Order: sequence, then structure tokens, then C-alpha cells
Amino acid sequence: MRPRSIKASKSQASLTIFWEDGTEVSLPFHKLAAACRCASCNDARAKAMAAGTAHEPESSILDTIEAVGSYGVNILWVGGCRHGIYTWDYLYALGAGHTPTADHHRAW
Ligand SMILES: [Zn+2]
Repeated sequence: MRPRSIKASKSQASLTIFWEDGTEVSLPFHKLAAACRCASCNDARAKAMAAGTAHEPESSILDTIEAVGSYGVNILWVGGCRHGIYTWDYLYALGAGHTPTADHHRAW
């Protein structure tokens, strides 16, 4: 799935994606920042889960969004993470209500 267009609204603090299948989804910046999958955010999320708390992103104030090839975007947060690559598949999954887990970090 690929987006037809993407619209970031700083006033509404959300990213709206219009998918090629005609569906549209709005993802709040806070949710996006909390769902970053870079190594350091994965680590922070795993620690929060181990402690039984919710992972809070350092920042969910949008700085810029950069295209990454043709498969996704890099979302940069002001004063927060700058390494988050969000592929179209991942954004689609987030829009469908799937959230990342740190299951693979858990030592059973
Ligand atoms: Zn990150």
C-alpha cells in the first residue's frame, strides 16, 4: 500500500495519509513518536514495558518529514528522535490500530 498524498498539520498535531485504496487515516504525532522503531526508541520502549509503564517519546513536536526512497518517510521531532523511519507498511499498520510491542526484547 502506498499513499496518494500525505498532509501534516502542526496545528492539529496529526499526520493524515490518503492511501491509494481510497482510505484515509489520521495519526496523532504523539502516537507516531511513541511508535518510532529506531534502536534507541526500541530500547526505551522495552525498558518502559519491563517497568510496566507506557513508553513516552522525548518529543512529539514535528520538525520535518523527509522522504526515504519510495518506501517511507523519516519523521524528525523537535528535541526528540531524529532516526525514525516509518515505512508505508508500518504507517498503514499503525492506522489500522496496530501498535508496536517489545515482545521480542522480553527474556522469558
Ligand atoms: Zn526513535
